[in-house]
Amino acid sequence: MLELSTPVKFVKRVGERIAAGLATRGIDTVEDLLYHLPFRYEDRLNPQPMADLVPGAMASIIGEVRGSVLLRTRSGPIFEMTLGQGLGTVKCIWFHGAYLKDRFKPGAMVAVYGKLEPSRSAMATAAAGSLGAAAGRFKMIQPQFEIIPDGADPEDSLEIGRIVPVYESLGGTTPWGAKLTSKWMRRVVWSIFEELDQSASRPGAPGLDSVTWVPETLPAAMLKRLHLPSRLEALRAVHFPEAGTPMVELMSSTTPAHRRLIFEELFYLELGLELKRRRMRERVGTAFTTGPAVREAIKQVLPFHPTAAQKRVLGEIVADMRRPQPMRRLLQGDVGSGKTIVAMQAAIIAMENGAQAALMAPTEILATQHYLSARRLLGGAVSPSTGKPYRISLLTGSLDPAAKRQTQGRIMRGESQFIIGTHALQEDKADFSNLGLVIVDEQHRFGVQQRFKLMKKPGADGVASDPDVLAMTATPIPRTLALTLYGDLDVSVIDQMPPGRTPIVTRRTTEEHAPEVWDFVRKQVAQGRQAYLVYPVIEGSRDDQPELDFPHDEEPPVGESIGTPSSSHSTESARKPSAEGAFYSSLGRSPRLRAKMNPRAEGPRYTIAKSSKSARTSTLFATKTKLRSATEMYDELRTGALSGLRLGLLHGRLSADEKEVTMARFHRGEIDVLVSTTVIEVGVDVANASVMVIDHAERFGLAQMHQLRGRVGRGASKSFCILMTGENVTEQAEARLNAMVATQNGFELAELDLQQRGPGEFFGTRQTGLPDLRVANLLRDRATLELAKVEAERFAARPDPALPPAEIAAVWARLKQQWQRRYGLIEA
Ligand code: ADP
Ligand code: MG
Repeated sequence: MLELSTPVKFVKRVGERIAAGLATRGIDTVEDLLYHLPFRYEDRLNPQPMADLVPGAMASIIGEVRGSVLLRTRSGPIFEMTLGQGLGTVKCIWFHGAYLKDRFKPGAMVAVYGKLEPSRSAMATAAAGSLGAAAGRFKMIQPQFEIIPDGADPEDSLEIGRIVPVYESLGGTTPWGAKLTSKWMRRVVWSIFEELDQSASRPGAPGLDSVTWVPETLPAAMLKRLHLPSRLEALRAVHFPEAGTPMVELMSSTTPAHRRLIFEELFYLELGLELKRRRMRERVGTAFTTGPAVREAIKQVLPFHPTAAQKRVLGEIVADMRRPQPMRRLLQGDVGSGKTIVAMQAAIIAMENGAQAALMAPTEILATQHYLSARRLLGGAVSPSTGKPYRISLLTGSLDPAAKRQTQGRIMRGESQFIIGTHALQEDKADFSNLGLVIVDEQHRFGVQQRFKLMKKPGADGVASDPDVLAMTATPIPRTLALTLYGDLDVSVIDQMPPGRTPIVTRRTTEEHAPEVWDFVRKQVAQGRQAYLVYPVIEGSRDDQPELDFPHDEEPPVGESIGTPSSSHSTESARKPSAEGAFYSSLGRSPRLRAKMNPRAEGPRYTIAKSSKSARTSTLFATKTKLRSATEMYDELRTGALSGLRLGLLHGRLSADEKEVTMARFHRGEIDVLVSTTVIEVGVDVANASVMVIDHAERFGLAQMHQLRGRVGRGASKSFCILMTGENVTEQAEARLNAMVATQNGFELAELDLQQRGPGEFFGTRQTGLPDLRVANLLRDRATLELAKVEAERFAARPDPALPPAEIAAVWARLKQQWQRRYGLIEA
């Protein structure tokens, strides 16, 4: 008797061995298996006629095997199979395909799926005379395939004459070593539904139908209002769609059944976040006052007129700070939009109320810079409430122990009012006497856990009132991510730049043109400007350095590329992401699976070199690219192309002192050209710098390049960003570089970045607290996410009193289950 909570090992065709493998993919129960949705469908009821085929598109074709041949070439064996439908044929090609030699019996029906390409008769294969140059207008390289059974077995009805679901491979094997193919999944899922129906009609279960075994998780009234099917109906329909279900809807996961399952998942995600938000509102915070004295204090330090956006945002922050509940606000604003001054104003409010303010930055450079600008802004000011100057301290990890102890003492005794530092602030000994406001700069660089750690500090009087928290980020966060990752925060956006900024001229160039770039740098320096040169690595080609945050393009760079040789017999695992395939493969693939499939390589990274035309077949060279590095280029340029200019070197392996000295000299204009790694990525503010050269720009992520570009264009003079590329610019890198040239809008770039990297990698760090979604896809399901948020807010505010109590209880139970088991977030 099967229920959703039954362990998978009890499912027919599964058993202990397979269940153990499935467990590693997060599939433990019948429910987990049913929520492993097909990632695409094949219409084997109305197969696509070959006459309708379009080159360049992904196609799913059924035909009969007309012939096959294994060609031995110098670069390895190539297997060719010709698939026919009437007069039309399509040639299917597998590199390293020796294992396929005996798979395709002439006359057998086979379904293939892959990208259609025009068949060039000039291909080596035709020259070999195998099937003749006329064999088909199209070819498919490394298609997925499935041999369609002849209909003798009744279960074959799952494979033919219907819309057939195709599943992401689960990766495991049966005890006898066969892969867990789509066919296997179809049979297993089918038998689950059969058993559920049988359980329902068992005599011992009078009055129970399958619905009872697949309990509904959403209130009936809500489903009705949103026109969504029941859970059981939805699960059945996503696995075995009715004939006539539009293929377009199936492929884009927009059938009512899909939408129901996606909504369900996102609803519970948003409901959990909403409850967190509400719970936070119930905590005890500090109600700051903002009387005339505070306003006076703020006014006296403002060096310029705030922009309208800065005013609005400060208004939102002030409103939060005045409330007795703790503030939890995320402040988003593009690089250079002027977040720092807003943060300083909030700090003044806290200090004028007799509380301490802490500002935490992700790097020492940034913390030091904030400290210096706080001193600049507040140094000369006198606090109206105390009649004394503000007392500001810097606390970083690199302070010597004695100095650190001293600073900690001042913090503890309340002698420091504004404390700026790195995560050293979170060290246990850094006790505050009366912490009222925490500002976290570049929030996304800290883990989600860290963001709350600092806030939990009790005051010296033992009263655990929560400080206000203002998290700032210059990485524009696409709304979908903001809703999921930061759904428990209120959001303010500075969407306007301070006046007097001239747009930054962004140009692409290649390494061959480096001499022109150096000339340009010289000219700018001659005009009194300064420049940054940024390299992806510190020295040598070592790829293990902390600054590295390479995007990780998966596909080989060019159209000539071919799938990696696959020794697999499974059609699913033969599928490799390609530019075109990415569209389909991103559909329905959960971020979790995506992360598992493309783990960020921890070891050395390799670039796949362009395969030359002659060697286009199967040799994939794994050459380790030689990268220009900051240290080497510093030495080279200093004595070479930029000799005579004052160069400085900055990277993460220098001591904090060295970094500070170099930064200070660059600030003072004693260094003309700062050769650096991405340590300067965040927050560094030198208005006189007008040139940003990013070398090996193809290796940088969009967010990084955008941040780096934001280092210039801060003064009144015209600024330039030069993106210099080396070899091996992938298609994805092309898209990034072109986007950089096309726009300076951080949100637009962020959207592209999200598309390219996926939600799991958007911030370049894994510990972002992104939920583990199994059916929803944040890139695809934005509209459903918005709907889920609205519904969750509504439900959390007050479940409709007309709802049956059992349905409400079911929602809370489901919420608990999804949050505890799936996200592992057990809330205090
Ligand atoms: P970010 O949002 O990247 O932290 P900053 O706060 O560092 O930006 O501000 C960028 C630069 O713009 C700084 O030099 C700052 O002094 C200046 N700035 C900020 N607000 C204004 C304003 N309203 N008018 C003129 N300059 C401003
Ligand atoms: Mg900043």
